[in-house]
Amino acid sequence: MTPHHPATDHTVVTAGDTARHCATIGASTDPLLGHAIAVDAPVILTNVSSVSVPTCSVKPVTALQKPAQPLHHKQHPHHQSVVTVGKAHFGASETVLVAGPCAAESEAQLLAVAKHLKSLGVKCLRAGAFKPRTSPYAFQGMGAEGVELLGRIGREFDLAIISEVMAVEQIALMEPHVDCLQVGSRNMQNFDLLKALGKTTRPVLLKRGLAATIDEFLNAAEYIMAHGNPNVILCERGIRSFDAATRNVLDIAAVPLLQSRTHLPVVVDPSHATGVRHLVIPAARAAMAVGAHGIMVEAHPMPEKSVSDADQALSFDDLTQLVGELAHLAVAMQQIQNTH
Ligand code: PEP
Ligand code: MN
Repeated sequence: MTPHHPATDHTVVTAGDTARHCATIGASTDPLLGHAIAVDAPVILTNVSSVSVPTCSVKPVTALQKPAQPLHHKQHPHHQSVVTVGKAHFGASETVLVAGPCAAESEAQLLAVAKHLKSLGVKCLRAGAFKPRTSPYAFQGMGAEGVELLGRIGREFDLAIISEVMAVEQIALMEPHVDCLQVGSRNMQNFDLLKALGKTTRPVLLKRGLAATIDEFLNAAEYIMAHGNPNVILCERGIRSFDAATRNVLDIAAVPLLQSRTHLPVVVDPSHATGVRHLVIPAARAAMAVGAHGIMVEAHPMPEKSVSDADQALSFDDLTQLVGELAHLAVAMQQIQNTH
């Protein structure tokens, strides 16, 4: 590491290629005062008059050995992983329907949902106990209590539970109660979370980032796989665009595109993709027709009363209609596949 001392009021510190060092800043009003910072790229420290650069004891973070092909890579046209969540098989011949409220709100709400899902033969219940809300003042979820409640309902009704994990320290708390850990769109590139999820035995449902490219999405999956967990399900949930007429833009072509590049199962979330109740079923039909391995929708006993995402929540009647339509479409899809 070579400190330079230009005449101006900033000092440039460059780091060597192989070793990583720490720079400890001397007396200064700089907000970095007193903080040791890990440097692995050139850093410009403004308004710093002197810099001492001792090598510190931070261990270098080693990159993993790169495999010849990425772990998510589809090696041949029939290479397809099946990820099992409870009794559902993502990536197999069935198109798995996942349904449930945006957030776990109460025992009564979850009981009503679970009963309806059971009556329709749906195998997976989704609900967030930790909610990544845009506003810090909005309902943040039931937290640990919600996780336990979900686990209890899942066992009682023999439903697989899918719920979002927002932080590394929530993983251990959720593992005993949740069958599949969801990574939300806002966390798709939370690399520490992805690495930690590589160590869990639970499958991970990874949602596409709000504005993530396909490569970034696949690399996020690669993080989880490279750290030891092969059971990753990808979820296309719409991406940001200029038009607010729908909440996001459902990138329907991403489904066959991902399926051409990876053996991982691909599901579609038409609820967050559209954000509008009456668009959810049409978008779900499109997901089925395009060949998604699963469809995840939000549903609530009283949709307009949903604590979060009320505008996109399906009613129980909507859900019944959707299940019926998907059954018809499954027959048509099977016929199409038989001609290949
Ligand atoms: C959700 O599934 O409840 C959710 C918050 O979705 P996303 O991360 O896709 O916004
Ligand atoms: Mn939601």
